[in-house]
Amino acid sequence: MSCELAYIPDWRSDETLYSWVSCFHAVHGHGSARDTGALLFGSEHACRDRDAPRNLQRFVGVTRSALGDVQELLFTRTPIGLFIPFLSTPRQRKLNEELVAPVGPGWRLLCGMPASGLHDASEMRYCEHCIVEDIEIWGMPRWRLPHQLPGSWICLDHCHELNSFRTDASQWILPPTDGRSDRRPALARAEAEALERVAALALRLVGSGTLDVESIRQAVLVGLRDQGVTTWLHPLHNAHLSSWFSGSAMAGWLRRSDGPWQRLAAGDWIHDLLRNRVGDHPLKWMILWCTLFADHDSTAHHLRFLDPVSSPHWDASGQATIWGTTPPSLPADIHDIVANAATIREAARLLGISVTTLRHRLADLGTNPLAFRQDASFEQRKQRAVNAIRDFISAHPSCSRSDIHRCCKAAVSWIRLNAPDVFEKTVEAVGDQRTWQMTLIADEVSR
Ligand SMILES: [Zn+2]
Repeated sequence: MSCELAYIPDWRSDETLYSWVSCFHAVHGHGSARDTGALLFGSEHACRDRDAPRNLQRFVGVTRSALGDVQELLFTRTPIGLFIPFLSTPRQRKLNEELVAPVGPGWRLLCGMPASGLHDASEMRYCEHCIVEDIEIWGMPRWRLPHQLPGSWICLDHCHELNSFRTDASQWILPPTDGRSDRRPALARAEAEALERVAALALRLVGSGTLDVESIRQAVLVGLRDQGVTTWLHPLHNAHLSSWFSGSAMAGWLRRSDGPWQRLAAGDWIHDLLRNRVGDHPLKWMILWCTLFADHDSTAHHLRFLDPVSSPHWDASGQATIWGTTPPSLPADIHDIVANAATIREAARLLGISVTTLRHRLADLGTNPLAFRQDASFEQRKQRAVNAIRDFISAHPSCSRSDIHRCCKAAVSWIRLNAPDVFEKTVEAVGDQRTWQMTLIADEVSR
């Protein structure tokens, strides 16, 4: 059977393909979900594939391309659009080959997602506030694409936790309009913000270009070390990773959520995610990224997810991840190893990298082993002098500057020669005390 629809309703804003068909079925169908499936997709069971039925080519023909071509439909009107950017090139090629085929494996299978255990095929999500607005505008509710994406648990327009609607019925279903909603505890502010970050990232990824997952992995490793979750010497410490994540607001919400993603709350998946070279479910990457960079500007960290190597401190060689993101830029543990090792060879051995690599990395920082170690020993010597002077001042609170000069002779002469501004800062308190006393006298006189 081949035909074209006489009337083709337009998209209702950001609704999904499934939503469009459900509305079409309610208004123009003849009551049989099978007939509607057969008409639009050549399959009586099309309503079971809530992501997208297989034969999209037929739908494009029936709707005379008025709603977009196959790729537009799949990439921007279904949750599959979120998986595409994560696919490897061979998998993307395979998917593209399958786009216009009338039959074949399901879209999630083609994206390598069915084994993740993170998908609840019976669930669709809606926001009760959006539904009220939909009824006002269109007279019928919608399934909005932003709400159906993996990682979308909050309405970004209403900051309201989404409701779940679960059914296995073979029907074209629209969201309930009876105003009933799940009774749940109110979201804590931190939880709402965590959910908003993931939902916003998920939405941004739909229709974006291919992601560099390997660089995302590197950036996460750097971020974890920068924030002290892991150390360079133990970049993948399962217990550290789990306990850090399970203490986050995101994990707090996941723990009491209702769905297969609940098991992510423990954080014990992060170790494998970062260790494995093969791809994994986008939901894990998004949750990990948004939790790790929760303190960063939301737009900036989304853009970095799309292009992690845009930051000059990262490169894809692997070794680069040992350097932090905050110049001047060695993590304290690595700095101390390089500064305190007897030789540069010893430092490289302790770090588990070659001398050549260490030289290259120091060159990246604009220095070389000799200069770096001189600088480091300068810092240590300066700190020793500062400590000696401070200790003297705190032991002799009423001392004068000449007392300090006399009793901390070695420290003072070294620091005045090599870091005079640091010396002034260190003895500042002594000067302050005199000024304060003089002001007090002046006050008394003026009364
Ligand atoms: Zn809403």
